[in-house]
Amino acid sequence: MAEKTIHFKIITPEKIVYEDDVDAIYAQGQEGGFGVLPNHIPFMSSLAIDTAKIEKDGEVKYFSIIGGAFQFKDNEAIILTEVAECGNDIDTTRAQLAKERAEAKIASAETQRDIKIANTALARAMARLKAASKQ
Ligand code: ATP
Repeated sequence: MAEKTIHFKIITPEKIVYEDDVDAIYAQGQEGGFGVLPNHIPFMSSLAIDTAKIEKDGEVKYFSIIGGAFQFKDNEAIILTEVAECGNDIDTTRAQLAKERAEAKIASAETQRDIKIANTALARAMARLKAASKQ
């Protein structure tokens, strides 16, 4: 019989950020956004520094996802990422300050390497602000 939910985990090296049976998962891959519903065919994608959205019992939750990988098989899904936070747990003042620091670094950067590092910090802050604002 077809399953109606997906057993989903968001895992970082530190902890399990989220684990539950969900109805749908939407995330941002390096090649663009994607979504999976129960009984999807096996699927895998690398992840952008962005957000993921889950739907469960008519409610949605947003998470900031700092890159990593997504895997789906047999109604088991995993996001393995360096860092993740639920939108509800995000300190928006901290993320806003991180965004401003990154923008200042981009403006004063003298090397491509400095720009790359600052752009990554900016993407992390933007992902957090996006997850918190949608939540
Ligand atoms: P910052 O410059 O604000 O420290 P960062 O991107 O360098 O941002 P990380 O190294 O990714 O921060 O995170 C360190 C720890 O702090 C992780 O546990 C992460 O979940 C948490 N964290 C980072 N930013 C926030 C935030 N805005 N709200 C809540 N937790 C955060």
